[in-house]
Amino acid sequence: MKKIFSFLKRNILVIAISFSLGGFAGYKVLESLGIAFLLNSIPIPEGSIADKDAFIETLPEGKPLVQKELIPVTNKAKNIILLISDGMSLTQVSSYRLLKGGPNERIAVDKFPVSGIVLTHSENAIVTDSASSATAFSTGRKTNNGALGLDKNNEVLENFTEIINRHGYVSSLISTSEITHATPAAYASHIDLRWKTDEISTQMMDSNVMTILGGGRHFFIPEELGGKRSDGLNLLEQIKSSHTVLTEKRELETFDHSNLGKVIGLFADEALRDNEKPDNHPLEPSSTEMLKFAINRSQQFSENGCRGFFIMLEGSQVDWAGHANDINYLKREMQDFDEAVALAYNYAQENNDTLVIATADHETGGLLIEPASPTDYTAPEVKFSFNTGIGYGSHTGVPVPVYAYGPGSENFTGTLDNTDIFYAMLEAVDIEDTIGSCVN
Ligand SMILES: [Zn+2]
Repeated sequence: MKKIFSFLKRNILVIAISFSLGGFAGYKVLESLGIAFLLNSIPIPEGSIADKDAFIETLPEGKPLVQKELIPVTNKAKNIILLISDGMSLTQVSSYRLLKGGPNERIAVDKFPVSGIVLTHSENAIVTDSASSATAFSTGRKTNNGALGLDKNNEVLENFTEIINRHGYVSSLISTSEITHATPAAYASHIDLRWKTDEISTQMMDSNVMTILGGGRHFFIPEELGGKRSDGLNLLEQIKSSHTVLTEKRELETFDHSNLGKVIGLFADEALRDNEKPDNHPLEPSSTEMLKFAINRSQQFSENGCRGFFIMLEGSQVDWAGHANDINYLKREMQDFDEAVALAYNYAQENNDTLVIATADHETGGLLIEPASPTDYTAPEVKFSFNTGIGYGSHTGVPVPVYAYGPGSENFTGTLDNTDIFYAMLEAVDIEDTIGSCVN
């Protein structure tokens, strides 16, 4: 006791300084003295996200982008299923894993044998939006934030579904948001601003994509009739001559798959699982149910002359959960996405001609996994914190993971630019000769 007292007496000034420094600096001083046991007494500074330790830096002038060298794929994939979780980086994956079953839980992406890191910056921003990132995946080119299927000079870029259509593949697009949202739109439209949904929906209906499933009925109905179209066009009525229109999930089960015409499923006015419209929820399919339908339908096309299929499915609302800083919302949407990834993975295990890719366009929310108390790492609680803004978060510039399984997966490893995803998909399929469209 006497010893401790004299120790404290000798170091009273240092300890006082440590306490006044607080937090990390105080901890470091106490640790250097071997008295880290006093740590729990150090006051932790209070603050908001706006007060966090932040550094605004100007980056060096950019170097030109060089495309990653591809490994030639000789064993080509017949089919590609691309699964994009909007706003998902490693902390979203890890948070879902922890919340589902703890640290040793394994979710669908954990089973993939190949994984890589994707850099997400756009043509004009370090932090991308969903439109430019989706365009990078769908065309292999960087563009400005907000643009779909156009380059930075508004020149039209041929997209993946257009290219493979010429080579005899059939395409499907699935989304849990309105189907006119940026990620699906990048595969079936060309427009300078993602908010021009009147044009986007019209272009998507004119595209060669044979199956489109998601929400967004209001984007096909004029404002006068309660919809969201400002151009007065009743597109929903118009497409009844060109498309089979589905509005309830039970129609996915009763669908006659000998129908090889265009299908659009609009299962909600805007997004699926809209909290403000619970009455509609029983009519809405999950991602897995939509993917199952698209796979069945694509197989019918393959049996009727198509060389193979491409399906893009977007888990749209992982991003919205990040913007809303809502971990329970994130968990629900990650679960919906995870189940769809599991279905695609199982399909590829049974059909070794199918390449499955699961990735994301960017991270949203600055999600962190922290100890619930910064001074007690071993406490049983874990803190999930969003670090981009209180109430409404933003995208961040951190890289995202890519997971791949099946023929051509060898090109989805190491560090990739988001544009490399396009070239790796193109390398995976057989586009040697132009055999022409197998549909319409
Ligand atoms: Zn996004």
